[in-house]
Amino acid sequence: MIVVMRVDATDDHLDQLVHVLHERGLTPHISRGVERTVVGVVGAASGAGAAGGFALELGALLAGLSGVESVLPVTKGYRLASREAQARPTQVRVSTPAGEVCLGGPGVVIMAGPCAVESEAQLLAAARAARAGGATLLRGGAYKPSTSPYSFRGLGEAGLALLAQARAATGLGVVTEVLSVETVAQVSACADLLQVGARNMANAPLLEAVGRSGKPVLLKRGWAATIEEWLQAAEYILATGNGQVVLCERGIRTFEPLTRNTLDINAIPLLKELSHLPVVVDPSQGTGRRSLVGAVTLAGVAAGADGVLLEIHPEPEAALKDGAQSLGLAAYAALMPQVRAVALALGR
Ligand code: PEP
Ligand code: MN
Repeated sequence: MIVVMRVDATDDHLDQLVHVLHERGLTPHISRGVERTVVGVVGAASGAGAAGGFALELGALLAGLSGVESVLPVTKGYRLASREAQARPTQVRVSTPAGEVCLGGPGVVIMAGPCAVESEAQLLAAARAARAGGATLLRGGAYKPSTSPYSFRGLGEAGLALLAQARAATGLGVVTEVLSVETVAQVSACADLLQVGARNMANAPLLEAVGRSGKPVLLKRGWAATIEEWLQAAEYILATGNGQVVLCERGIRTFEPLTRNTLDINAIPLLKELSHLPVVVDPSQGTGRRSLVGAVTLAGVAAGADGVLLEIHPEPEAALKDGAQSLGLAAYAALMPQVRAVALALGR
């Protein structure tokens, strides 16, 4: 089971809880978040298979301790991410120079920019076009997770510096990927929203490290991950006490070779049933084909996505990465009024 401590719980409250658990032969797994502390309780009497009466009695005992806000049973591998744990939708708040951007609120958030940061001129041109089209967040990879070690791996630290420059020049918040535990601090210093990519969705140490960073996290779905596996990955972040998680559907691998991935539209309304976390779509990785990106973007918004992640490039043909799925700046500008029309039709 999971014990969620109150925001104002003290160290004494936590010590008392730990003492009660130890007395019963149970092991507490304490995650101290920026906002609150969450304690996972590990032991025979606390899990899904525990004798019902004993677990109920323990739950009631723990719920009565000072400093404890709630005690949640875990029956399916994730709990904090579930609708049962929280009925109201989570709003993820990303701070940007131009103010707070809210994911999971009434509006549909546009995140646009190049797949990879390549140069100052490329990034600034993309960022200015992104903002002109209505984006509030700039996406761009400084550290790129490449399938092949021979493809472009990103500019690294120099790419982060260019993102910071584009952020200051445009007021857009920055969404960028973090690939490893060792670079979480460095990337967090630049990112307003930390991206965990498809290849790292199930990397537990990285999920815990981004959770502890205190930054909001955009968690992409692995291309062969089920929705429950993805929610369990989100649970790793939530269990650190960081509740600011956005789920990003970026397509899954199917038998279809004509598209890079198949964007799972079902996932959007299904996640809305199963979870309170905001859901966004990435039609760029989701299709792999520029000609399909517009239609799939509109479909994602129509299905209830809280935001869209779009790859755009001033010269897609010359892009060092993912040019085939990147929209040119004019195509992006033409798509945005359609996105607004669909959002408006849904009352957003
Ligand atoms: C990307 O956003 O450019 C990317 C690498 O995405 P994914 O992790 O979904 O493949
Ligand atoms: Mn890409």
